Amino acid sequence: MEGVLSKDMAMFGEYLQTWKLKLSTTKAMSAAFHLNNKEAKRELKVNFNNETLPFCSNRIYLGVMLDRSLTHRRYLESLRKKLTSRVPLLRPGWGVGATTLRIATLALVHSTAEYCAPVWCRSAHTCLIDPDINDTSRIVTVCLRPTPTDNLPILAYIHLVDLCHNEATLSLGRRAMEPGQLLHSALTHPSSAHARHGSQMECGWANKPTRLRIFIPNTGTHHPGMTFPRRAWVWLNRLRTSVGRFHSCLYKWGMASSAACECGAEEQTVDHVVLVCLIHRSPLGLQGLTVLDDETTEWLLNTCPEI
Ligand SMILES: [Zn+2]
Repeated sequence: MEGVLSKDMAMFGEYLQTWKLKLSTTKAMSAAFHLNNKEAKRELKVNFNNETLPFCSNRIYLGVMLDRSLTHRRYLESLRKKLTSRVPLLRPGWGVGATTLRIATLALVHSTAEYCAPVWCRSAHTCLIDPDINDTSRIVTVCLRPTPTDNLPILAYIHLVDLCHNEATLSLGRRAMEPGQLLHSALTHPSSAHARHGSQMECGWANKPTRLRIFIPNTGTHHPGMTFPRRAWVWLNRLRTSVGRFHSCLYKWGMASSAACECGAEEQTVDHVVLVCLIHRSPLGLQGLTVLDDETTEWLLNTCPEI
């Protein structure tokens, strides 16, 4: 194999000479990608102009580290460190609303998390970056940690990361199908990637057994609650996900001595607060939390208990 590669490099050298080009000797190096662990430490000796090209086991190309078995573990570990350092920059202490926090999240964290995603998105180690992505959605929605993580991007109106990765891959495929591209003839079935992306997201959301779907049946719409003052936005998200500082939750987490409500009911659950409670009940119940009418908005701002 080394002989064949050296021969190919000699041909490449002739091409460079013909077109008066020069190979960068500091950047040119050889690398091998395979799953044969026995050969893991073997270094290729590829010659070019009577010199052996330096061998590199973890090649960085356009900012993406390519390891020998292409598991992308080391790249994803370094990406996690990068994201972890950026998440603390997103702090609601700025006094900004949910919409601004969402834009800052997309610009600072998601853009980095999606860089060159088609290369590594099928790695078994993509879960390494999930905690940071979930943290950013928690900062936007102010949901508590026990909130199901699949609810967070829906509330924050941020596309699910794995679907964004699929979209990036499909977009690459679409470009490859354009006339004149190398893979044009091989890819004979053009498809609408946008439509597929949207339907994948809708389909995935429609099958999720979650309470949030009562209030947000479609994922592709902007939620009007995002423009609410922060207090109303926080209470709204906690009422919709049913994870908040309700007495029943606090009792379950061992943070309160009783689950009883101020009105005398034995258990203060989310449904009790929204539908039944004599003190805190919302004016239009679940319907109000879906359509966010004026009365419910007023209730969220002034009457809703601190949950
Ligand atoms: Zn009550």
